[in-house]
Amino acid sequence: MKALVYEAPYQMAVRDVPQPTIAVDEVLIQVAYSGICGSELSGFEGKNSLRKPPLIMGHEFSGVITEIGTQAAAARPDLQVGSRVTANPLVTCGQCEYCLSGRHQLCPKRKLLSASLPGSNAEYVAVAATNVLVLPDSIALNIASLTEPMACAVHTARIAAPRPGETALVVGAGPIGLMTIQALAVYGLKTIYCADLNAERLAMVESLGAVPVNLKEWTGSVDIAVDAVGASATRASCAKVVRPGGRVIWVGLHEAESPLPINDLIRREIVAYGSFAYNPLDFKAALDGLASGAFALQPAWTRVETLEKGSACFEELLHGSSVSKIWLQPGVLA
Ligand SMILES: [Zn+2]
Ligand SMILES: [Zn+2]
Repeated sequence: MKALVYEAPYQMAVRDVPQPTIAVDEVLIQVAYSGICGSELSGFEGKNSLRKPPLIMGHEFSGVITEIGTQAAAARPDLQVGSRVTANPLVTCGQCEYCLSGRHQLCPKRKLLSASLPGSNAEYVAVAATNVLVLPDSIALNIASLTEPMACAVHTARIAAPRPGETALVVGAGPIGLMTIQALAVYGLKTIYCADLNAERLAMVESLGAVPVNLKEWTGSVDIAVDAVGASATRASCAKVVRPGGRVIWVGLHEAESPLPINDLIRREIVAYGSFAYNPLDFKAALDGLASGAFALQPAWTRVETLEKGSACFEELLHGSSVSKIWLQPGVLA
């Protein structure tokens, strides 16, 4: 099969590789769309310790089942050859304390497609049947591939647990920032602000009903601050603008370490949370919201490209693209 293989920093090429052979508890999915994720850009640059070449990236995908393992068929009779599906790319043990308490994202045995397992930037991808979600008829395959990033946003909103009348600031209007605005909006917040440096992205923020702000000039404060970038400067901004007793949620993973004004956070009783990935409930809520149209990225904010254009797309996203999400389309499915 054709696959986009990451071979060295800034080097990705379409290669002929063996089609994955599935385990008894897995299904094989012919990939329709595979979105490029911000977390993979640092991998492309060689700055992500979890993404070592040679590697097939891609973990935001949709497609059609072409093969079902024997155990998978017995456990999931709802999965058929030809079923339109997406899948949770975080493979977990299902048996540890974290998995049993619905916190699969903390499973010590977790493995992610596009990091320690081959991903979906290929014609076919193998995934555990328990991770597969059948798509409602109403959702298009390209929209369904947004389930994974949307699930991150749903998870963040759940952790923020907004109460009616509160205000929030989202720093970073990339796909996760835009989706977090939508996930927070479900809770009926009074105002959601969003900061970004890119004018095109701030226009997207405005069309979602959020209020674009320039952090250099803004003097407001909020109950909830979400950092969807992960740079030292944006983390510090979140700590600064949250009001006493408020909460900061860290999502972005750009820099490994950042200095923070801890004494100030103590005296103002700021509560800080990490938000990592999602659990199966977040994943289901994300798919349901996308299928109903409650969550969306506008068509003008997305683009479809061939696998052959993959490397150029990674470069484009690294240097600030005018679109929010690029989907690679490895084959003819649509
Ligand atoms: Zn992702
Ligand atoms: Zn586990």
